Amino acid sequence: MAWVRDIIRQEQVVACSRRQFLRIGSGVAASLLLPAAGLARAASHRERSLNFYNTHTDERLKTCYWAEGDYLPEGLQEINTILRDHRTDDIHDMDRGLLDLLYLLQTKVESQQTFQIISGYRSPRTNAMLSEKSGAVAKRSYHMQGMAIDIRLNGCDLKQLHKAALSLKAGGVGYYPSSDFIHVDVGRVRRW
Ligand SMILES: [Zn+2]
Repeated sequence: MAWVRDIIRQEQVVACSRRQFLRIGSGVAASLLLPAAGLARAASHRERSLNFYNTHTDERLKTCYWAEGDYLPEGLQEINTILRDHRTDDIHDMDRGLLDLLYLLQTKVESQQTFQIISGYRSPRTNAMLSEKSGAVAKRSYHMQGMAIDIRLNGCDLKQLHKAALSLKAGGVGYYPSSDFIHVDVGRVRRW
């Protein structure tokens, strides 16, 4: 599937070329965040981009958040913003490992499509409110630490996405077919 790789690479170069590559963190930390079970193909990419659509605010984002061994502050900030708590507008740093998990996931299903955001960061206030309404919402949710996201991926069957997420063994995976999304987090490996 060399042509898929080439398309991904070309798209990423376009997405990243407009950015100034500010260096933060270290290359060592960056490589550790990509799960060891990660695909060799994803690890060989020189840039990592993600596309998002926030189903609550109607916002769209296509951004490069990592290039040449470093995370890019501008891309991270854009992602933090689109994944904010839409109820309170609170912004929280999203775990970089979670972004890498999403990147691995889209690579696994060979997609460069848009992730639809059902839920990203949740402020303590929002989580307490949701948890009161539904027993299915954990009181100490990883969403409150920027370590979890509820998503679907355009053009990708939910079952296939779920299977791919489980295969990464990178954290928790929840399956919600009636609401058409999966939950992924970078907590310990578990499923429900
Ligand atoms: Zn969730």
